Amino acid sequence: MPELPEVQSVVDTLCMKKIPGRRITGASVYWGKTIADMEPVDFCKKIKGRTIRQIIRRGKYIVFDLSGGLTLMIHLRMTGRLNWEFRDRPRNKHEHVILNVGATDTLRFQDTRKFGRIWLTGEPEKILDRLGPEPLEESFTIRRFLTMLHTTNRQIKPLLLDQRFLAGLGNIYVDEALWESGLHPQRISSSLTRHEVKALHRAIPHVLHKGLKNLGTSLGTGKSNFYLPGNRPGRNAEELNVFRRTGLACPRCRSIIARIVVAQRSSHICPTCQKKQP
Ligand SMILES: [Zn+2]
Repeated sequence: MPELPEVQSVVDTLCMKKIPGRRITGASVYWGKTIADMEPVDFCKKIKGRTIRQIIRRGKYIVFDLSGGLTLMIHLRMTGRLNWEFRDRPRNKHEHVILNVGATDTLRFQDTRKFGRIWLTGEPEKILDRLGPEPLEESFTIRRFLTMLHTTNRQIKPLLLDQRFLAGLGNIYVDEALWESGLHPQRISSSLTRHEVKALHRAIPHVLHKGLKNLGTSLGTGKSNFYLPGNRPGRNAEELNVFRRTGLACPRCRSIIARIVVAQRSSHICPTCQKKQP
């Protein structure tokens, strides 16, 4: 599932293609459920003629600020991706929503597993205000993080995956950050020492920046894998230390990396570096 570095890389790619400033000249919806909270026919009617003023990321949402006070938000969920194509290229069967941009271009939402969602709304804050802080913003200080962790008694892994707690992280970068800071995913958040919080607070931006530098993580070559607009995979997979490296050696201590299940999600840990009882 695309996480902060992947979604940010999509946003950066769209901005590089100079899509902000351009006008949406029409829309087609081929799978109605992709459009959340609106009939597809209304979606097409309302979005037509709007100019894309700005594209930003908040959490795992791609947020298009449109003219006339509307916001288009896209959540890629498991397998969503955006394709930037000429209008005359035939639609592939997984492209469920197509926005015409100008006279010749299209922005296409492709999604093999169909979990992705698109919102067109005048009140984006109703969704975005539910998200926790951004881990790469300056306002996300150690002090704030310490308070956040110590006011709850949840296991650290599901807590970090909870978008209302902290926005943007998913399975890949949480596993990597926990390994880097030497924390077992089942540690209880309120039990973390100041030293451990400091290590985690350093590890989270570190793994995210590495992902950003590599334009995200693509795992394998399947259709449902993560690709940037322009069909480019991210290069971060080869720099992962534990995620999906079960049975391989820990880069730090050479112990064998194990896969365990925490809150119904698979987690990859080094049993030596990440002790359950510190
Ligand atoms: Zn280790």
